Amino acid sequence: FSSSLSSDHKHSRLTDHFRTSDLLLNSASFIQDSEVPFFVANLDDLFQKHIRWLRNLPRVKPFYAVKCNSTPAVIRVLRILGTGFDCASKGEIELALSLGATPDQIIYAHTTKPQSHIKYACTRGVDMMTFDSEEELLKVSACHTKAKLVLRISVDDSKSAVRLNQKFGAKLSKVEKLLERCKELDLEVMGVSFHVGSGCTDSSAYRQAIEDARHVFDTAILLGFQMRLLDIGGGFPGNEDFHIQFDEVKKVISEALDEFFPADSGVQVIAEPGRYYVESAFTLAVNVFAKKVVMDDVTEIRGADSDTVMMYYISDGVYGSINCLLNDPAHTNVAPYLHRVVDSSERRYQSIIWGPTCDSLDRVTDTYWMPEVHVGDWLLIDNMGAYSVSVSSDFNGFDKAHVYPVLSAHTWNMNVSHS
Ligand code: PLP
Repeated sequence: FSSSLSSDHKHSRLTDHFRTSDLLLNSASFIQDSEVPFFVANLDDLFQKHIRWLRNLPRVKPFYAVKCNSTPAVIRVLRILGTGFDCASKGEIELALSLGATPDQIIYAHTTKPQSHIKYACTRGVDMMTFDSEEELLKVSACHTKAKLVLRISVDDSKSAVRLNQKFGAKLSKVEKLLERCKELDLEVMGVSFHVGSGCTDSSAYRQAIEDARHVFDTAILLGFQMRLLDIGGGFPGNEDFHIQFDEVKKVISEALDEFFPADSGVQVIAEPGRYYVESAFTLAVNVFAKKVVMDDVTEIRGADSDTVMMYYISDGVYGSINCLLNDPAHTNVAPYLHRVVDSSERRYQSIIWGPTCDSLDRVTDTYWMPEVHVGDWLLIDNMGAYSVSVSSDFNGFDKAHVYPVLSAHTWNMNVSHS
């Protein structure tokens, strides 16, 4: 592990089994003389998540969804651990290849692709790609005749925070016609994929989708295709506080696979987890750079019911790393806490936390009770690894958060086989 990572000199090695919040509490050197927000990316957490995945879903090879967080250290660690990568564009394919992934470890998992991106995949030998329409087949047939196609079907995502199946996925009623078109165009179809939606709250969605995929397999086999890959997409929870637990999801998936795609069927099963791997690994640290104490006109403040309300202005907000409050319905629980030990006897004030920009939509919390914070203090926010770094902007000219990857000596010294 260490020899493979040693080219990446931008991460820190730490003593065993550290907790990110403790690390931040004890390391003033990280935060001296700066107001710029930053993430601590706990690479040990990725490692633990991967072990958990292998123990619980040993038949399912994860292809990490790069879109979720494309920090190079994340890609590098996952590559060393042996995951594949779900890339959605030329840029993501370029990134994964530049960090050591091989073309056969990549699935180009976007059903609507610009022609130039398909051509790029072709020149780099990335053959596995999804589709869900006849128009896409025509482009693939013009640009990448060696493509190994995976038919994405639309499935029930009504219980997921982020629904994807209106935009992507062929209806089951259209599958046969699409497969016949593949035959006419002499294109290879190797499997079926689906995505139950990000932040899935009902594990039975996976069972129904796997059963639907079985029907599509049967139709394709009757038409003469050699079907050998099932891709069960993403949607897995990224932290233990989510509505459903990974253990419940894996139980439903394992049982459905045993029933519809048993191990002796010879079908390779892959998944495209994003949030699962990175959400809990990233803690965001934000600087409090301004403060107002409101005492006279508190009644004008929404939600205020005390004589004093504190307003804090922090160095990151909903246009930056905390964009999940606007864009990611699967992640609304943003709970900043103080970067110092808090005494239980300290007075709590009703407080509102605002992001740094000139926009009043840039509000990070509603009123909530917390000890007094001073200009220059730092606040921490856990579980910030999914769709944060990769979606944030520098709107209004505010710096984007830096990422500091950290790794324990224990993990550094581990002997990981590079499968
Ligand atoms: N695969 C595809 C095609 C996606 O669109 C997404 C997310 O939008 C993912 C995988 C990752 O999903 P999640 O982060 O919920 O695991």
